[in-house]
Amino acid sequence: MAMSKPDTLMECLTCSHLKTAGNWIVVEPIVSTENDISIYRLESNAGCYECKVSGLRWACKKKVTLQYHFRSWDPHKTVLQSMGYRQAGPLMDVKITAGRLEELHLPHFACFGVEHHNNPSIKQSVRVLHVEDNNVSIEKVDKVTRFHVKILPPSVSMRGVILQALGFSVHTEMLIYQDRTAHLTLRAYLIPYDPALTETVEKQEKRLGSTRILKPRPENTLWLTADYKLKTTCPSDIESSVNPKRLELAHINLPHYYKVFIKEAAFDFRLNLCCMGRKQLKWSQEIQEAEYRKPPPDNPDQQNQPDVEG
Ligand SMILES: [Zn+2]
Repeated sequence: MAMSKPDTLMECLTCSHLKTAGNWIVVEPIVSTENDISIYRLESNAGCYECKVSGLRWACKKKVTLQYHFRSWDPHKTVLQSMGYRQAGPLMDVKITAGRLEELHLPHFACFGVEHHNNPSIKQSVRVLHVEDNNVSIEKVDKVTRFHVKILPPSVSMRGVILQALGFSVHTEMLIYQDRTAHLTLRAYLIPYDPALTETVEKQEKRLGSTRILKPRPENTLWLTADYKLKTTCPSDIESSVNPKRLELAHINLPHYYKVFIKEAAFDFRLNLCCMGRKQLKWSQEIQEAEYRKPPPDNPDQQNQPDVEG
């Protein structure tokens, strides 16, 4: 079902001064699973559309149907690194099953709202990795916007946004899951804002029967490759612990997480994320007792199938 939306799927205070272009109608995809791979199917009439899950955008003059699934960057990492590139968005395998596209815009998680002193022309370093029949090529892009890269021609196949830089500012997501243990155990994933990584984490946590505690993502940009420390405001380290205390913000297929353990949890507390280099508070959210102290479900099967969060 399509719905109108004034702005993009996400916000970022760091680049809020940059313009966002046009009105895109957000469309919810139909999701099915084939061989453990989630396939997202979309359909639209003439107009400009954005997929609610991935942020993929397209424009068409007549009715189209398309589908995509996420692919792993791992087979291409070595060649990317040897050329000084890093992945800056999901690698997506897109197919058109009916109709023709006028435009295709791939999502990216780079933030262009801060000055990059080491690389002032960072926006010009954006490219797209194109994989077709085992041939890999690096393509120039038509246009770079806050959250997207427009490619020409709008042909479909396996493509993902890349950036030629050692590090850069990125939009991020903090995913928090509660484990099914007697004591309070949380797993907090700080990841680049990449729907493919979110999908991986959600699938992994669903298998463990965890429950997601929904919290807002960091509202300012963070630096890829920097170290971030997570702390709780619990009174003593004897009752609570975070392991590891610090993690590098990285784009990896199986994201690392902070494990937060609180022995006798019966209170509200905060989770604070700090940048190690500048010791700045980058994200802070309260975890209330009411959020994590839920009654155990009667049917264990239901607990194994928590709702997938959008
Ligand atoms: Zn931004």
